[in-house]
Amino acid sequence: MGKTLVIGAGGVGSVAVHKMAMNIDIFTEITLASRRKFKCDDIAKSVKERTGVDINTAEIDAMDVDATAELIKKTGAELVVNLALPYQDLAIMDACLKAGANYLDTANYEPEDEAKFEYHWQWAYQDKFKEAGLTAILGSGFDPGVTSVFATWLKKHKLDTIRQIDILDCNGGDNGKAFATNFNPEINIREVTAPARHWENGDWVETPAMTTKYSFDFPEVGEKNMYLMYHEELESLKTHFPEIERARFWMTFGDAYINHVTVLQNIGMTSIEPVVHDGKEIIPLQFLATVLPDPSDLGELTKGKTCIGDIATGQAKDGSGEKTFYIYNNCDHEECYAEVGSQAVAYTTGVPAMIGAAQFLKGNWNEPGVWNMEQLDPDDFMDMLNSHGLPWEVKELSGPVQF
Ligand code: NDP
Repeated sequence: MGKTLVIGAGGVGSVAVHKMAMNIDIFTEITLASRRKFKCDDIAKSVKERTGVDINTAEIDAMDVDATAELIKKTGAELVVNLALPYQDLAIMDACLKAGANYLDTANYEPEDEAKFEYHWQWAYQDKFKEAGLTAILGSGFDPGVTSVFATWLKKHKLDTIRQIDILDCNGGDNGKAFATNFNPEINIREVTAPARHWENGDWVETPAMTTKYSFDFPEVGEKNMYLMYHEELESLKTHFPEIERARFWMTFGDAYINHVTVLQNIGMTSIEPVVHDGKEIIPLQFLATVLPDPSDLGELTKGKTCIGDIATGQAKDGSGEKTFYIYNNCDHEECYAEVGSQAVAYTTGVPAMIGAAQFLKGNWNEPGVWNMEQLDPDDFMDMLNSHGLPWEVKELSGPVQF
């Protein structure tokens, strides 16, 4: 149905192109480009071995708008799937406008020198994409991404309104390392060390990072401590579902992870302020990311399951009063590794990136403009989750959450 250019040959990019190659009727020609071409070539080799499909590869610095626009034109891509880092979002959106291509990503833009996690930079492109007749789809990973589509599906099929929503992200996997992040270390540590923020009664409520915790019994995983955090989909959900009174995001962390992050923070290693080391300016967090394990190497070592989903409470569609639903997916690290050679965190992001891209190429999500996932029709996306490795469950709970 269309030519696709994927930018970023990390853990998520690898899963996405493997899954695209398994759907060659939709993704008729795939090019993978990244800062270092050998990473693209390694992934292309694995894609060929696992699926028999040939993909093209290229080297690109996505911060170079002109070079990226040239590459888009050269590949003839109708859609650019940005699986590089959040710092590249605006440059790639500019390149898409220049080359006349559509855009999809999995994480909101962040300036390198501030960990802000806000959508306004990308929402400001609304008129430019509309006027150009192009579509930009923001946040097509798992969270943001599937968790936003889950909310829209509940609103379409179960609830007239959502009064409160909790997004629960549990990684019950173990990789045997003393400390490792399960996606890009720099982005992950920026996220977890930022103050926690949730939406309540028309305002943001801020609390210090990693101070509010609750033990939750996750389906197929068991009891885990989850911590209140800020996550970007809270901003888009409260904007697009203005009836929401309270929206919160929780993520599980083991005690060893918390201890390591606390020590690293206390000694300044998580700072994004430049320091001079040996006469050279470095960013401590970037140096730390360099010495930590590469998440895309953890696939073989990781065992256990993830469980990510939403608990939403609101007025039922059938007029029976207020109801609460829990909608979630379980994903098994070892099964992901057997299928595409990656652990479940990359898998649960790369598969929705492929499905979001398929929604565009199938013509389901191609209205010009800039859209968050909860603004788009959920039904075909939800069907594809079931048939492409991320099946979901929905169950009614006895009442609203008690935490
Ligand atoms: P990785 O660090 O593994 O991969 C990022 C890739 O982008 C690397 O191959 C890197 O190149 C490449 N890259 C970096 N800068 C540039 C540049 N200037 N030009 C071209 N390529 C570049 O990250 P992940 O795969 O773990 O994550 C990818 C994205 O997915 C991130 O934005 C992350 O925030 C997002 N994410 C979203 C989730 C969700 O559920 N919504 C969950 C997890 C991640 P090199 O190899 O040379 O460093």
